[in-house]
Amino acid sequence: MTTHVTDIAQSAFLQQQPVKMLIGGQWVNSASGKTFETFNPSTGEVLAKVAEGDAEDINRAVVAARKAFESGPWPKLTPSQRGRLLWKLADLIEKHVDELALLETLDNGKPIKYSKAADIPLTADHFRYFAGWATKLEGDTIPVSIPNMFTYTLREPVGVVGQIIPWNFPIQMAAWKLAPALACGNTVILKPAEQTPLTALRLGELISEAGFPDGVVNIVAGFGETAGAALVAHPDVDKIAFTGSTEVGKKILQASAGNLKRVTLELGGKSPNIIFPDADLKFAVRGAMNAIFFNQGQICTAGSRLFVHKSVYDQVVSGLSDLAKGMKIGLGVDPTTDLGPLVSQEQWERVTGYIETGKREGANATTGGARPDNEQLKGYFVQPTVFDNVSDEMTIAREEIFGPVVTALPFEDVEEVAARANKSIYGLAAGVWTSDVKKAHKTAAALKAGVVWINTYNQFDAAAPFGGYKQSGYGREMGHAVLDAYTQTKTVWVNLR
Ligand code: ADP
Repeated sequence: MTTHVTDIAQSAFLQQQPVKMLIGGQWVNSASGKTFETFNPSTGEVLAKVAEGDAEDINRAVVAARKAFESGPWPKLTPSQRGRLLWKLADLIEKHVDELALLETLDNGKPIKYSKAADIPLTADHFRYFAGWATKLEGDTIPVSIPNMFTYTLREPVGVVGQIIPWNFPIQMAAWKLAPALACGNTVILKPAEQTPLTALRLGELISEAGFPDGVVNIVAGFGETAGAALVAHPDVDKIAFTGSTEVGKKILQASAGNLKRVTLELGGKSPNIIFPDADLKFAVRGAMNAIFFNQGQICTAGSRLFVHKSVYDQVVSGLSDLAKGMKIGLGVDPTTDLGPLVSQEQWERVTGYIETGKREGANATTGGARPDNEQLKGYFVQPTVFDNVSDEMTIAREEIFGPVVTALPFEDVEEVAARANKSIYGLAAGVWTSDVKKAHKTAAALKAGVVWINTYNQFDAAAPFGGYKQSGYGREMGHAVLDAYTQTKTVWVNLR
């Protein structure tokens, strides 16, 4: 059965005025009574009013999370019971795939074909993967060199965890954060981005329906400088997991120092995508399109610096420009849309500002570079844009744009391109396109990035670690690597003499 926009608008969830926050198992208004509006980026219209969390709400949520962590049913659940809850949540997400996909598209703007085929199924998959880990958090026995000692380690949860997520993949980011934290037995206060709070809050309803005890997951929507900052500074929060901009990541690290919280950061990127002349060019050009235009370029791994060997440069740039021109720009809810709007007016101004800077600094837009010429599209739309005549030093080739804008840069040889690719404060992801297996692996080894995709791009899987080098952050999400972020090791010594 398909859910329609009108069904969603009339759903009990959006009928709430405002949409409430989840604290200690209760759906409540903010302590201040304040609300904020979330917009439909395709139209610029208000979608819902949402309870606006601030320091007092965060404090209440932390108290609830602490109580749930220290006493109550949660710490007494067996690993198998925790795993079952996560699995049940995944089933509920799948059951509501149409509704969640539509809600995500309405709040974020992303094309419905992607939210339905990727965002929501991958969210369910994430919870399933981590459901399995709940029963596998094993310690070690340590062969110490002191006689008669039996020494072993336990992996214990970190405690009360604050999680702050961005707006580009709202429900998936919630899953990336919640699933491992819960599998490891922590309790959570999740703060969704102010631009896109809705699917995280709806997920909160499903979390309650799945049977998670009260206070294990608390969801407080609100702004970064208020609710987010209060969470980071709170003395009773043991860990912060953050995904967002490098600028805010640095602030978070400083603000978390009061009680020496553990911090993991997944931050920005300016990822190189390198096409060698021996690549299957048709395939590589499609890959370059996906690398930069997927999710309107609003993805931290966006392949925004496209390095192309000079012998195939013109061919690749014209091929990519043609593909960009052929993309259907449209409303998020239109199933034929390839490229939806950006998330907000602020983001639209930022991205179009970069496009203007690029032109001013002498770059040439082979396609795009403006708003689409279509009066029906009243939201925050921008054309997919390809720049050539770019130098590595230009602003558009150095700074993260977070929009559908790619800079094409010619290169001559492997050493040169690896050095140029690495000349960035970021190190999140990279792409390599070649038919030469030696060149592929050598280039992967030379690139300073947390993930390298060879003859593919933007692949993610709950089992594969993801995270940054350099100022793209630290700590890994997904795979068993993330378990280090949500557990701490206790060493126990037993004298057997
Ligand atoms: P963007 O610039 O793409 O919106 P941000 O890094 O500003 O990315 O936001 C990512 C998340 O961080 C959002 O949930 C936002 O509310 C939150 N945030 C922003 N500023 C702060 C802050 N000073 N402290 C804590 N969280 C913040």
